[in-house]
Amino acid sequence: MTEIQRKQDRAPVPKDWTYAPAPESRDVVKLQDRYGLFIGGEWVEPGESYETISPANEETLATVGQATAEDVDRAVQAARAAFSNGWSSLPGSERAKYLFRIARILQERSRELAVLESLNGGKPIKESRDVDVPLAAAHFFYYAGWADKLEYAFPNRKPGPVGVAGQIIPWNFPLLMLAWKLAPALACGNTVVLKPAETTPLTALLFCDVLRQAELPPGVVNIVTGDGRTGAALVEHPGVDKIAFTGSTDVGKAIQRRLAGTGKKLTLELGGKAANIVFDDCALDQAVEGIVNGIYFNQGHVCCAGSRLFVQESIAEPLVEKLKKRLETLRVGDPLDKNPDVGAINSKLQLDRIKELVAAGEEEGAEIYQPPCRLPEKGYWFAPTVFTNVAQSYRIAQEEIFGPVLSVLTFRTPEEAVEKANNTPYGLSAGVWTEKGSRILWMAKQLRAGVVWANTFNRFDPTSPFGGYKESGFGREGGLHGLEPYLRFEE
Ligand code: ADP
Repeated sequence: MTEIQRKQDRAPVPKDWTYAPAPESRDVVKLQDRYGLFIGGEWVEPGESYETISPANEETLATVGQATAEDVDRAVQAARAAFSNGWSSLPGSERAKYLFRIARILQERSRELAVLESLNGGKPIKESRDVDVPLAAAHFFYYAGWADKLEYAFPNRKPGPVGVAGQIIPWNFPLLMLAWKLAPALACGNTVVLKPAETTPLTALLFCDVLRQAELPPGVVNIVTGDGRTGAALVEHPGVDKIAFTGSTDVGKAIQRRLAGTGKKLTLELGGKAANIVFDDCALDQAVEGIVNGIYFNQGHVCCAGSRLFVQESIAEPLVEKLKKRLETLRVGDPLDKNPDVGAINSKLQLDRIKELVAAGEEEGAEIYQPPCRLPEKGYWFAPTVFTNVAQSYRIAQEEIFGPVLSVLTFRTPEEAVEKANNTPYGLSAGVWTEKGSRILWMAKQLRAGVVWANTFNRFDPTSPFGGYKESGFGREGGLHGLEPYLRFEE
């Protein structure tokens, strides 16, 4: 018997070849019991506090601060002092060094950040590891490169920083949204008060330690945790020069009303109801992958998710069949296991919203399909869902669900696809699947969406501007365009 045969003889034969869990270790994350507010480079005891949990099993992870209006005021004052005491007048090449350092530390501590992101937010570790954290680092690298080239980016316009930026971010990409907000603001010489979403504060709090390691001067970045009341206090603070908000359209509208006439600069990145449009000449299997990535990535908690699938009528049947088959292979489960494709729903509140809209879809007459899958008993979970037989007027075709729920509609001609795709109050993103280059260009021109992906979906890059039309907001993040909201020009 050869050596290899002997080894094989001894190896146990698995009972079931389909699945073996591969949990990522939690040990890399050292959680504190309590976190304060990060103001002026120090941890400040909050006036009030609340508990943050893991949505996958409802375990309490830590107690964090609920910043009051007074706390926000202290943070804004710290940001103002840091702005005036050197940060805004630092040469761009010096600011860039800090941003490069932050980017490198994010890479060095990527495993720790990815585990914490999945623990607190519920997204699969393979997404936080392969998407959120690397992209967050890439944003800092990218904007570090601009810090000393602003004069070239905007020739003859004498760019200068705006002042103190108030930044409010959502819970779907906590660390990545932090990077989208902080990197351009700091590159342009602003100082910041940032408020993470109430359900996902932990990676932002760990990021404060990254700032300490990078030796960023105190007060340049201040992080205040809390719910909408903290956000509202930041919006209303007279010492803030610019608000950057990513979140729901309703809150965005309220912020815009609040800021009207104040002279504060504002960018809003709000909801979406993207059309993913599949023509009959596309590569079908590739399109199915794109559809799955478009709506089930991050449990569908993506403002640019491809939540409305428009399929050319001639291929609707085979495509839906392929899609349903593919759904059967999606694994839903523990976010810290490296296998699952779909993790936990971020909060009870969000789960209830998804359930309500799905019930409305069934009531209105759409046909529901969910693949057989066993959901964990504890925590917040929802199976990947497809609705067929959907009419344009149904709530599931009009309203943002922000969950793993796809509505399938059909069309016959490109004109009809455009008309239906644009029939929404939103305009953040869209996808087009076809072999024809000229059709891609024509569609991209017709679609009222800030981003149009061709033969791909949910692809992000720091060099590429991202933002909406209509009720999806205004202003761009990413790329050269993403610098502009953080600059004032002497013209
Ligand atoms: P969602 O409904 O998806 O949770 P929200 O728009 O409510 O989205 O939340 C996005 C961010 O806005 C969060 O950080 C949240 O705390 C904050 N927020 C909520 N209400 C307000 C408000 N009135 N003013 C400022 N920020 C708010």
